[in-house]
Order: sequence, then structure tokens, then C-alpha cells
Amino acid sequence: MRFDIVSLFPEFVAQLAAHGVVGRAGDRGLLSIHGWNPRDHAEGNYRRVDDRPCGGGPGMVMLIDPLRAAINAAREADAAPAKVLYLSPQGRRLDQAKVRELAAAPRLILLCGRYEGVDERLVQHEVDEELSIGDYVLSGGELAAAVLIDAVARLQDGALNDAESAVQDSFGGDGLLDCPHYTRPVEHELGAVPEVLLSGNHAGIARWRRQQSLGRTWLRRPDLLDEASLSKQDRILLGE
Ligand code: SAM
Repeated sequence: MRFDIVSLFPEFVAQLAAHGVVGRAGDRGLLSIHGWNPRDHAEGNYRRVDDRPCGGGPGMVMLIDPLRAAINAAREADAAPAKVLYLSPQGRRLDQAKVRELAAAPRLILLCGRYEGVDERLVQHEVDEELSIGDYVLSGGELAAAVLIDAVARLQDGALNDAESAVQDSFGGDGLLDCPHYTRPVEHELGAVPEVLLSGNHAGIARWRRQQSLGRTWLRRPDLLDEASLSKQDRILLGE
């Protein structure tokens, strides 16, 4: 999968490719990240990429032409079709269902705003979808793009050492929150590992984990239960 980042600081996002799961996915040839700086497509000695907002008010707005030229350069860099996603606090909130959908695309162009954002006409004509990573305002879209890439990279076949872990993660296969995890030492001043996890009884361990997942989801995110895939046994445990 290919990511093209249109940003004033593309190297910020490209850093992701040096670490962890995203880095490993890159090393395994599962994804690549390419940066496109609108400043490289800006005209004049100052290579201006922003201007004051029409109608007055605080801040600056990103200019159409350098962004458009950077998006077009990104589009032309590869034959695979690409959707242009604008990371924006006003977009649809990113969730795991959307991440799964994006992970199936061959390629994405991620547009990162700065300042007050980008000229609305560019959004209207060049952007396929606006995506937000949450109801708060960041200074720029780069962190949001990094979040999106990380979440999508985990779902590429072969990115995780054990594909099963993505299924077990929160919002995974069944739509529940994950169960709690423990490791050695078994006895610690902060407490002991639950005995069932040391029993070697695989069915018992699976049952305990399922109960924990259901319990946590019920307590912390009951809204997820409406969409979760639950068995008859799960529903009994939930007292339905
Ligand atoms: N004036 C804009 C508004 O209130 O909708 C906020 C602009 S923000 C300071 C600058 C840029 O950061 C945005 O253009 C967008 O690319 C990015 N950004 C900020 N918050 C975001 C969020 N929650 N999700 C995704 N991108 C965000």
C-alpha cells in the first residue's frame, strides 16, 4: 500500500517508517510513505503557501494552487488510483471500521492542513473525504495522518508478527474491547497474575478472556455491544 502525504512537514510523517510496526511493514515491502511539500510547488521568491483569510480575522489560510499542484504531483507519481483524504477536525470521525475500509485501498493521498486550514474551494474540488481523529483541534494534520497510517498499517497482511493479534485487539473481529494482559513475574508487589492464565487449561483461559472482554465493554463502552457479534453464551453472561 502506498501513502502520499501532502504537507508542509512531510518528513514528520515519513519518520513513522523508521519505527515499529509501520517500519517493519515498510521493510517487508507492504507499504511505502512519500512526501509532497506544497512549498516545492509555490511560486515567487518566498514560495508562499498561505495568505490572510478573506473577510478578515485571525490566522492564515493555505493557498489553493501549491496544494493542488502537490496533490497532482502525488497522483501522477503512481498509476494506482488514489482517494484524497483531508485530515480535518470537521471530518467523519475515524474508527476501526473506517480503518478496515482504508486498509483495502491500494493507495491514499493524505492532505495535512496547517494554520486555519485550507481554502474551502480546494476541499470542494480535490478532496474525496474529510477524516477527523477526534473532537479536538491539532495544530496540523501531520499527527492525524500518522495516526491513520499506523492504524491502517497494522491491518496489512504480514505487518504484524501474529495476524491473530489484530483480531483480538479492541474493535477487532467481534467488536469488543480487548481483555487485560499480564506477563512475568507471576508474583509482584503490585499483585499476582490471575491463576486461570497459569492453568494451561486453554478452554478455561479462552472463557476467562471472553468474560473479561465482555465485562470491560459493558462497563466502559456499552455502546459497542449493539454492534458486537455476540453468541448466545455471551448474551447469558451479559444477563440479557
Ligand atoms: N480552523 C480549523 C477548524 O476549526 O476546523 C482548524 C484548523 S487546525 C488548527 C489546522 C489543521 O490541523 C487542519 O487543517 C487539519 O488538517 C489538522 N487537524 C486539526 N485537528 C484535527 C483533527 N481532530 N483531526 C484531523 N486533523 C486535524
